[in-house]
Amino acid sequence: MTGLTDPTDRREQILRAAVQQGLLDPDRSLLAGFIDLDGVAGTVGSLRAAFPGSVSALHAFAAKANSLVPVLAELERHGMGCEVATGGELARALAAGFPPERIVFDSPVKHRRDLEWALDLGVTINVDSFQELARVDSILAGLAPVSQIGVRVNSQVGGGTIAAMSTATRTSKFGIPLSDPESRRELLRAFRERPWLTWVHTHAGSQGCPLDLMAQGVAEAVAFAEEVNRAAGGPQVTGIDIGGGLPVNFAGDEVTPDFATYVALLAEHAPDLFSGRYAIVTEFGRSILAKNGFLAAYVEYTKTAGGRPIALTHAGVQVATRTVFAPESWPLRITAHDPSGLAKHGSPVRQDIAGPACFSGDLLARDRALPRLEQGDIVLLPDTGAYYFSTPFHYNSLPEPAVYGVRVGADDRVAFDLFRPAQDPYEVSARPGRTTVPAPRPSGLVRR
Ligand SMILES: *Cc1c(COP(=O)(O)O)cnc(C)c1O
Repeated sequence: MTGLTDPTDRREQILRAAVQQGLLDPDRSLLAGFIDLDGVAGTVGSLRAAFPGSVSALHAFAAKANSLVPVLAELERHGMGCEVATGGELARALAAGFPPERIVFDSPVKHRRDLEWALDLGVTINVDSFQELARVDSILAGLAPVSQIGVRVNSQVGGGTIAAMSTATRTSKFGIPLSDPESRRELLRAFRERPWLTWVHTHAGSQGCPLDLMAQGVAEAVAFAEEVNRAAGGPQVTGIDIGGGLPVNFAGDEVTPDFATYVALLAEHAPDLFSGRYAIVTEFGRSILAKNGFLAAYVEYTKTAGGRPIALTHAGVQVATRTVFAPESWPLRITAHDPSGLAKHGSPVRQDIAGPACFSGDLLARDRALPRLEQGDIVLLPDTGAYYFSTPFHYNSLPEPAVYGVRVGADDRVAFDLFRPAQDPYEVSARPGRTTVPAPRPSGLVRR
């Protein structure tokens, strides 16, 4: 990686260049997302290096974490696969250039139309329920599939600290439960009757799941695969898809836990995974991109209410939806910068950092100690490369901000590549509903 390597300095370097190059401008461009492509390359390298070279591993990026086609195309060039959960994500993965054999389709609600498309292309499919299995039978109509087909199992090992992110609870909506006695027997029968079922898939959850729990979930999936193979008298199951879910440290720049730590735990809990009898698919999303992206937004106004300073910025619920609606589960760091992008170093003052949407909960942070923000300053939100600006929420007809891919050259020159243009704020952005009237727009500045 060229350019500055300390993450804080590097973000500041990129932010200053963005201001200098006019990508952030208090009149025209109030908010933008940035993805550090050098950082992404480093993270993908660390993911590969964490897995033993002796096993075949396809690292499929979970598209929902950041489904911008140029981001997906960059990951494709790094040799990754792509995990998709809807027909829309499948379309984006194909548009990004992923060959079908490197795409994995997981969803608990696959429509027949999407299943037919995936089977036709030869995309890998993880079946989520017995009814879906019957549907696959009917589409295949006795023919052998081109696709690799697996079953998502629910290891039922338990949940993490964020209920909405925990997918391996006893009653989770995902997968076929392994410890409900009837269901395990029925699933063993399903594998016996379908020699083309050759993969077992599990994903214990995302942010908030302890690593031990995730590794236990994988161990349960491997144990089930071994059971199928014993019953079949040979290697029917040839691959394990271990899902994603490595949590991200939102409290600082340290990458913890890292992929190597997780792989060491997997080797301890599920040694058969690395026996060489199984190919491996992974589906990491947040841990690939979160720390390689940040958001920057201007402070439009400041005020004081009830004695508390408030900075009103252009970043809020439209780009930080989870943080705004569930602040205890999704706190974000914020750094304060002057209008040129230079970090502010004044003594910290407790203040609220608010977004532009019309409800009082639209806050990026409450009572946060930061150098006092002033009108025209810039706030920077690290760790937002996944599930933030790539997935905007259209509340209040707030426009989608521009997103740039960034590389820093050997000469320290910061080069930006426009990955998604900003929506024109006056083109009624989201979905205007049926209308015959062209949206009016301001005709010019009023100057007196
Ligand atoms: C969301 C999801 C992932 C990615 O989770 P991260 O926490 O972003 O790594 C992987 N697999 C499945 C099935 C998912 O639903």
